[in-house]
Amino acid sequence: LFVTLEGGEGAGKSTQARLLADHIRGLGYEAILTREPGGTPGAEAIRHLLLFGEEELSWRAEVLAHMAARCDHLDNLILPALQRGAVVVCDRFHDSTLAYQGYGVGRGSTERLDFITGARRLVGREPDLTLLLELPREQALERLESRGGRTDRYEGQAEAFHQRVLSGFDAIAKAEPGRVKRINAGRTPEAVSRSLLDAVSEKLGH
Ligand code: C5P
Repeated sequence: LFVTLEGGEGAGKSTQARLLADHIRGLGYEAILTREPGGTPGAEAIRHLLLFGEEELSWRAEVLAHMAARCDHLDNLILPALQRGAVVVCDRFHDSTLAYQGYGVGRGSTERLDFITGARRLVGREPDLTLLLELPREQALERLESRGGRTDRYEGQAEAFHQRVLSGFDAIAKAEPGRVKRINAGRTPEAVSRSLLDAVSEKLGH
């Protein structure tokens, strides 16, 4: 089973991904916890270029660099793990590319959304289940402030950028309600964790 966690910054994805993988192991499955951009040495090198590189890439190059990292991640980690029956929990995947590069950077232009969707088809492997951690931007900002100073290329963007990203995730959830499950991330970590595990258990038939 291939599970992805998606959402804006400060929604608690990384913490929840870790808890979820632990809980899945508790059910007796092998669980692989991973993240994007990155997840394998080659893809982490591309992550560094994308998030902290000095040079700006053209928008198509940026999208394809995300996709190149994803191919390495799929080929070297995710697909082999799924093949042997593991549950893979991935912190961000295809939907982040659409939300950030399509709706955020690309302002939702048809040209960009179509380009990303085409590249996505080429790369393949849609998640079986996507858990969208939803938190209003104001609350996410409070959490980000208390966590303190990470500044990659995207976190420093204007508020309007982050609002576009959230509206992108919302559009994705509306378009694919069967795959994408909305999770209210404004609750206690325990309550959020419970909802995530329930959604995964249902898919696993537990
Ligand atoms: O998941 P995390 O918050 O660590 O993501 C790292 C950074 O990469 C974030 O700033 C996120 O906005 C950005 N990102 C992106 N495009 C993606 C995936 C992540 O801009 N497709």
